[in-house]
Amino acid sequence: MLIRAAELDADFSSVRLCMLSGEGSTREMREEMLERLRQFGAGSPRIVNRYGATEAGSFFECEEGSGWHNVTPEQVYIETIDEESGHRTGPGEPGLLVITHLSRRGTVLLRYAVGDVVAIDRDPCPRCGRTAERIIGQPARTSGAVKIKGQLVHLEGLSAVLAGIPGVLEFQIVVQKSDPSDPYSIDEIVLRVAAGRAGVGDEVVERTIAVTNVRPRIELVRPEEIRHPDENAKAKRIVDLRPPAAP
Ligand SMILES: [Zn+2]
Repeated sequence: MLIRAAELDADFSSVRLCMLSGEGSTREMREEMLERLRQFGAGSPRIVNRYGATEAGSFFECEEGSGWHNVTPEQVYIETIDEESGHRTGPGEPGLLVITHLSRRGTVLLRYAVGDVVAIDRDPCPRCGRTAERIIGQPARTSGAVKIKGQLVHLEGLSAVLAGIPGVLEFQIVVQKSDPSDPYSIDEIVLRVAAGRAGVGDEVVERTIAVTNVRPRIELVRPEEIRHPDENAKAKRIVDLRPPAAP
């Protein structure tokens, strides 16, 4: 958007706050965005992050690095739990984030696992003084689940689906930036598929959209391009090529 704004010679003199959501941003990305905002006339712009999931609502930073505030603690209760035992982890200790609606009609969630491992700070915010809890630390996806274009995609589940399609000899799920040289570009799924018959590629695309809501890019390959040279070793089914997000 900022690149487009430069093309249009936009006037950003009234921009005070920029709220980022979706993909995690690195400190370098945020610095560059601030620099661009200033170039377009924004006086002293601030960037804060939003953390959220479609089912669970949103949590916001008050300032960069403050942690994500639960802004409606009377409606949403958050905990971190041990993935195995389901017991709550202590303040500041990492655990699976689970969300409980305290006051809601219709779809009500009870200890719903968003799919992220986070920690929770229940002390008042040192920046703004709010007393509701904050999610701290960079959320890490639990094994096998990634967020692509806003959709939570369970790669293990997708892997099981692909393995069940007749004519798929070998496959590999690659998660990467759509432009590997550009860390701003969106995440995408590339399915490397060795097909044993015609039409397999189309079927793989259809089934993937059906289970993930995400359209994958298909790369048809020979089985030996995926198979591990050691015949007994398992082929690597899931490969994540994205650069790790900086805290
Ligand atoms: Zn705060």
